[in-house]
Amino acid sequence: MGQLDGKVAVVTGGSSGIGLAIATRFVREGARVFLTGRREAELARAAAALGDSVIAVPGDVTREADLTRLHTALEGAGSPVDVLVANAGGSRPAGLADLTRDGFDLTTDLNFKATFFTVQRVLPLFADGGSIVLLGSAAGSAGSTRFGVYAATKAAVRSMARSMALELAGRGIRVNTLSPGPIATPSLARAPAEVIEEATARVPLGRPGRPEEVAAAALFLASPESSYITGIELFVDGGARQV
Ligand code: NAP
Repeated sequence: MGQLDGKVAVVTGGSSGIGLAIATRFVREGARVFLTGRREAELARAAAALGDSVIAVPGDVTREADLTRLHTALEGAGSPVDVLVANAGGSRPAGLADLTRDGFDLTTDLNFKATFFTVQRVLPLFADGGSIVLLGSAAGSAGSTRFGVYAATKAAVRSMARSMALELAGRGIRVNTLSPGPIATPSLARAPAEVIEEATARVPLGRPGRPEEVAAAALFLASPESSYITGIELFVDGGARQV
């Protein structure tokens, strides 16, 4: 018997990396999973590989019309949503001297604003007693010379999760932040080599994490195994911010 048997889950940014690993694990645990992502072919490939329990809903979480499409698809499914993983996010390196206004807006829109509005849009369809997991980052707990605004958006996500946890506690809905350290995903692979080396050098366990290791923590937060846990930040960072 799976830990998410009969549950409906939504994973944004589910076509690659951490989101795909979470969707894969959730399907294995018995959930029906709605997956989003902008690149339709990539999303369709991921959904096809995962089988009949996955419904692909192409879309960009920063666009209101696309969140409406997700809402409509979920409504059409006819069952309440039990789990939302707001995972879509990302960053490009730029510091104080060279981050443009457009780059600033892209980073905050994707990681902060879209996370808020994804939750707001799914909430009317959410089951009482469900679980919301927001992807933060270990970067949100430290300074950074090249990812300062990204780090600030993730600190904002962590803060916002506290308020959402308070607002939704009356419905038994738990809201937690899942904060990875460096994880071997396509987005990390795109980072400059020195960024990867620097990030890994700070990890006591001495290696980047695997997406499956983040997925295991997401499953814990999504499932009744964490029924008395809300408002926390769970780090999956090999100890980088802990020791
Ligand atoms: P990834 O491999 O680049 O995957 C990102 C996923 O999100 C893709 O499916 C991508 O598909 C989708 N996506 C990106 N922008 C989107 C948008 N505007 N609307 C909808 N979907 C979008 O990234 P990842 O490394 O797995 O990161 C996942 C999350 O973990 C992010 O929130 C990231 O900040 C966080 N995180 C990652 C690390 C790490 O080291 N990897 C560390 C800490 C935190 P499309 O491009 O097709 O849309």
